[in-house]
Amino acid sequence: MSDSSPSLTALADTLRDIVGPCWLRVGRLFDGTSSSVLTDAHLVCDADGIRYASTDAPPANLIRLGQTQPDLHLPDHTALPGLTDSHTHLFLEGGETDTAKRSAHLKLSAEEQLAAAESRLERLVALGITAVREAGDKAAIGLALQSRYRSDRRGIMPYVDAPGAAINHQKRYGSFMARPMEEFDSPAATVAARINDGAHRIKLLATGIINFEKGAVTAKPQMPAEELIAFVTASREHGKHTMVHCSGNDGVANCIEAQVDTIEHGFFIDDQQLARIRDLDMVWVPTFAPVQFQLDHPEIIGWSNEVCDHLRRIIDGHARSLVLAQELGVRIIAGSDSGSHGVTHGWGFLRELELMQAAGLSAPQVLHTATGAGVERMDYAEKFGVLSPGAKSRFLLTDQDVLSDVSRLRGDKVVVFDRHVTAQGDNETQGGL
Ligand SMILES: [Zn+2]
Repeated sequence: MSDSSPSLTALADTLRDIVGPCWLRVGRLFDGTSSSVLTDAHLVCDADGIRYASTDAPPANLIRLGQTQPDLHLPDHTALPGLTDSHTHLFLEGGETDTAKRSAHLKLSAEEQLAAAESRLERLVALGITAVREAGDKAAIGLALQSRYRSDRRGIMPYVDAPGAAINHQKRYGSFMARPMEEFDSPAATVAARINDGAHRIKLLATGIINFEKGAVTAKPQMPAEELIAFVTASREHGKHTMVHCSGNDGVANCIEAQVDTIEHGFFIDDQQLARIRDLDMVWVPTFAPVQFQLDHPEIIGWSNEVCDHLRRIIDGHARSLVLAQELGVRIIAGSDSGSHGVTHGWGFLRELELMQAAGLSAPQVLHTATGAGVERMDYAEKFGVLSPGAKSRFLLTDQDVLSDVSRLRGDKVVVFDRHVTAQGDNETQGGL
């Protein structure tokens, strides 16, 4: 046992060397089940999962025979669950901001896109992102990553589940990540085809995107409520969730009428709609990062001052809705939309968390959206995101004050992922993955 604060690599080495259950005593423990924090707490885990987390010392049957002291006493450290980015497009290069190069990337073969996505997996884990929920691609990249995760030769990678190709209407928004429902006779047949492809959930494009020049969603929704209802009904018959791209008040209204599982983006959601999605236990994934990027770098697209005013108003409104949603008790889940223009994988998610904090949530509230807030609701195939018995052993240890400021997640940390331990220092590149 050591009371001094070990170096990052020494801490990682010690954790790797422990055989059998590992007993940690930490200054603060954020278990992810809520936004509250335990001080001077004990955590016992092994490669198979979390055994114990509490302010009381663990019972003898959960630690090694004869052990009387923790393996590590880390009074300056915080333990928190690994982070889940609940909206990613790993086939896209978010860090590539040149629009011509972005288009060229979309023309790469599926093998090349998959190789690019795979090259990021280990680094995502090192950053503390131990799970991602993919949000759609046409070339089955997400499904290939999901299969790799579920195989016994996956290597070091986050948990991944994927919807395969998103579903849109012919000639409407989203053809870079979706296949049209017109390929099949009915929503039910479309859903059955996606599930046959291996989809873990069904991604629908209920609307287009924001028209930034007008500062509003100007196109009418792609999918009327009755169509969404048909998709939700068909998905539920297969036991599958629906995740629905949606912005604009009319589109949100359709999603509420259809009681989809998750509303992705949800720009222009109103106060009554927030109360409704709370009552219906629907989930909101706000994805600030892609819109904030446009405001931070108007020169890349060539946005005028007028468009920047629109962007600022949209983000301010979204921030106001986020704070109200938190007050109302809406289930908010963090997702970056990484792969979108300017939103890098990994670091883009840390940026998303910073934006949620800047919008007015406290750091623990933000961390809850990135950890345990989705554990019972999001239909993940495994239990993670919380430090409680039965959950996977996937957590971060850091001496950074992440509970006061989520931007400290960029700093030094050790990431434990089942049997694997990695240390990430401050000197890591801050660029894209
Ligand atoms: Zn997306």
